[in-house]
Amino acid sequence: MDCRYCDHPKTHKHGKTSKGTQCYKCSHCTRTFVETFDTLYYWRQVSADEVEKILQSQLEGSSLRGISRINKRAYNTVVSIVHAAAYRAQLVHN
Ligand SMILES: [Zn+2]
Repeated sequence: MDCRYCDHPKTHKHGKTSKGTQCYKCSHCTRTFVETFDTLYYWRQVSADEVEKILQSQLEGSSLRGISRINKRAYNTVVSIVHAAAYRAQLVHN
């Protein structure tokens, strides 16, 4: 895996987080990062499958409060996921 900070190709495994996500350490810049760093799943307690389900529901036109009721997640969690996805989509667009 390439370093997420400096793109150096030589990184090595550096333990796991309490949630079981693999950590890596760069041998060039000596910084550590998790494999989900700078993705939609970074710093979230919601699983990748559930994030995809929430975004799919939002795409099909369900209301944000409806999604939060169906998935039993807080309204603010749903808003945060949709907002983060929209931000990333805008970055790709630009
Ligand atoms: Zn690095």
